[in-house]
Amino acid sequence: MSDVVVIGGGVAGLAAAGELARHGFAVTLLEARDRLGGRILTLRPKGWRAPVAAGAEFLHTGNDAIWKLLRKHRIQTKPASACHWFSTSRGIEPIDDITKQIEGVTAKIRPRRMQGWSFADFMSGAAADFSSEDRALATEFVEGFQAAIPEKMSAVALQGETLDTTEQFVLPRGYDRVTAALAADARKAGVKIVLRSPVKEVAWKKGRVTVRAGTTIITARAVVVALPLGVLAAARSERGAVRFEPRLREKEKVIAGMEVGHVIRVTLRFERRRWTGILPRVLKRRGGFGFVHSRIDGVPTWWALSGRPVLTGWVGGPSARQLIGRSRCGIREKALGSLAKILDVATTTLSGAVADFATHNWSRDPFSRGAYSYIAVGGENCSEQLRQPVNATLFFAGEATADGEETGTVHGAPTSGLRAAGEIRAALRKRGSRKRNRRSA
Ligand SMILES: Cc1cc2nc3c(=O)[nH]c(=O)nc-3n(C[C@H](O)[C@H](O)[C@H](O)COP(=O)(O)OP(=O)(O)OC[C@H]3O[C@@H](n4cnc5c(N)ncnc54)[C@H](O)[C@@H]3O)c2cc1C
Repeated sequence: MSDVVVIGGGVAGLAAAGELARHGFAVTLLEARDRLGGRILTLRPKGWRAPVAAGAEFLHTGNDAIWKLLRKHRIQTKPASACHWFSTSRGIEPIDDITKQIEGVTAKIRPRRMQGWSFADFMSGAAADFSSEDRALATEFVEGFQAAIPEKMSAVALQGETLDTTEQFVLPRGYDRVTAALAADARKAGVKIVLRSPVKEVAWKKGRVTVRAGTTIITARAVVVALPLGVLAAARSERGAVRFEPRLREKEKVIAGMEVGHVIRVTLRFERRRWTGILPRVLKRRGGFGFVHSRIDGVPTWWALSGRPVLTGWVGGPSARQLIGRSRCGIREKALGSLAKILDVATTTLSGAVADFATHNWSRDPFSRGAYSYIAVGGENCSEQLRQPVNATLFFAGEATADGEETGTVHGAPTSGLRAAGEIRAALRKRGSRKRNRRSA
């Protein structure tokens, strides 16, 4: 019998498992896929010369746990470009301070007065206060960066929020170095990691869980549920979903009040000799390509950070939802159409210059069912409610259980795992000492 079963081998589950094992618990981690890392997915396709992020790409400052891990494992980071452009009918122009423009809008959100307002409510209420440009940029931030639907996202949760353009880093050797570091630490501490094991059922009573994943059945004193919100919200019969017996009715209500954002992200590799020909001259000067924003239908935001002939396209929120049902080819076609307009070249020219294409549809992936969570109207306390342990036996980790601004991020996920591990240590120690007390009485 294990002391603890951890369900989910993303960075949250790995951090929880490693921490518990370092404190002497016997831990088994069950992961559905044939790899660890969940929404951190680094591809290394032939001919690309550098890793390609299909999931998380950026790392933000302000979280000690992840930076401690990076230092310990000597994982190289590099500041991401802070250069932002806007593509209009006049051409591509620099945006001087996109951060301030967005903040100028979100700073006007008044949490006390605007309880129960969505971002869309706030925007229609404050229509006269902002220029149409500032309104559009703030809406694009909510849809693109938060991956949210403005009518569903809590206005209060956006108070003072903006893009992080200066304290944003990339991992040139691949984000999966973070996964590998956490996995190495966990294994070294004695965690048993079992891949290809989608958990289907957790039968539980106080102090005992039985976890079923195909023919694997594990009993333990506690479980850490480190699953994506999309998986927790899936109907019990759907692939990837986990049935709790008895049902967790209170948690089901909390989950129903939370939202998963959707994103489509594509990466194009260009033939080197055609690459310079398709880039507008302006993007070769000043700070380089960096990030190019636009209001073009399909995939409106693009960036190039490596100096290689590689471009990443991004669309989030309502526009991403329109694309998630498309085939890989359909997504490629839409992305090329958008980029051709932004660069002002013919789609056929662009298409002829593309050597390869990479994407991953996180919304159709049964083990993620969306990109990352955002805070819904009225759901400001949901992350906190979701992370509350049940009967000192079921514990919860994962980005959707993270604190405030850390919701939906990589750095929030391992922190939530460490928090869940701390809760288990306290609960099992207490239970152990009660047993000892009973024995001695
Ligand atoms: C396209 C995209 C871009 C992103 N960009 C960034 C970024 O730049 N910066 C940033 O900070 N964040 C970014 N994020 C968000 C970030 O990737 C996540 O917040 C973080 O990786 C979540 O970690 P987690 O451990 O909570 O969940 P996951 O990584 O999703 O881990 C959960 C694990 O549970 C497994 N699982 C699912 N169902 C079962 C089951 N039934 N049984 C067993 N295992 C199961 C999954 O396979 C997965 O491995 C991005 C996400 C996406 C999708």
